[in-house]
Amino acid sequence: MKLTIDFSALFAAARKMGDPIEEDFILDTPREPWEDKLSAGGIEVGPGDVDNEDGLLSYRGRQVLLYIQDHGSKAQEAILDPDAGKRYHVAECRTLHKMMKEGRFERYVVTNDISGEFHITGYDYMTRQSVEGKASLHICKNCLTYLNYKGYSKPGNYSAFKNFDLSEFFQTYSSFFTHTPQRKMGEREGYTQDWQEISRTFRQDKAYTCEKCGVRLADHPKLLHVHHINGVKSDNRKANLRALCADCHSKEAFHESMYVSHADRQTISRLRHTQQFRAPDNWQEVIDLADSGLWGFIERCRSGRLPVPEVGLDLQDSTEEVKGMLELAWPRQRLGIAINERDRMHAEGLGWKVFSVHEALDNFTTFVTRL
Ligand SMILES: [Zn+2]
Ligand SMILES: [Zn+2]
Ligand SMILES: [Zn+2]
Repeated sequence: MKLTIDFSALFAAARKMGDPIEEDFILDTPREPWEDKLSAGGIEVGPGDVDNEDGLLSYRGRQVLLYIQDHGSKAQEAILDPDAGKRYHVAECRTLHKMMKEGRFERYVVTNDISGEFHITGYDYMTRQSVEGKASLHICKNCLTYLNYKGYSKPGNYSAFKNFDLSEFFQTYSSFFTHTPQRKMGEREGYTQDWQEISRTFRQDKAYTCEKCGVRLADHPKLLHVHHINGVKSDNRKANLRALCADCHSKEAFHESMYVSHADRQTISRLRHTQQFRAPDNWQEVIDLADSGLWGFIERCRSGRLPVPEVGLDLQDSTEEVKGMLELAWPRQRLGIAINERDRMHAEGLGWKVFSVHEALDNFTTFVTRL
């Protein structure tokens, strides 16, 4: 019998108690052989093996991408020139649907290796000898359109494709998955010996308040980080430090390997509300406050000039008990967006019309008519 233990409740309880668990404490849960395979090289899959997590690709609760390993006679060319390689997918885009329809799906491999280097195979068409190697394949453009990733659907916007970064992409959507990638070892590199003490004092001096969004985290000290402005982890001059909540911190540039759990983001959202943050009155504020997995949809709303929603709205029943959260909400129309299925069910129970992020993107016209 396989024993799975949910440690998230333990961590949540520990967080409430204060500081008893070290920030960089890593649970040494044994990895299963398939997990190692998934992150190194990948696993060959059929159409039924891959799940759809709100439009994104998921394998056993992990975010994955799909690529074609067998490049046939094009292998050598693809190794030398990424433009000649087959595109990899991160969402259930038009191309994937077509492949499935044509029964060509079984040629795919899933992986959560986000190095951007793919192991491909094939043969030399002159000598017929087998060829294999690493190729820096490109992202599928239909996937970017499907998600409106970084506003890609806007005509003339190529930067989302040209500057596409897999680790940044995985971090953007991490709230949609139950398993987030484990921290890499050695990530604490560069910090000075006395860092924990410096960080603690600095957060105290700032009254445990995020210097960007203003949320107060005295009861959740672990959710307030100390960020090095110039990126140098040993430069602890006060002018180089900034106290940021985990949500604001993960949205800083070059923080692609910083994963914040969906539960932690919701906690921060909830505190912003109970601390009487005023509702955002422009789209930039919505972007600053919202989960990054919603940015593609938010961009779409912004270009459609829709009314600005509230971010992170708690749902209370008649006894004022909090039942869940809407990531975005238009209270007058009782319309909202949820990431969690549970949140969605609670909201619907209270009479809201709720869309998942991808449903709203995919049926944007229908969505707009409700506003
Ligand atoms: Zn695609
Ligand atoms: Zn913040
Ligand atoms: Zn930082």
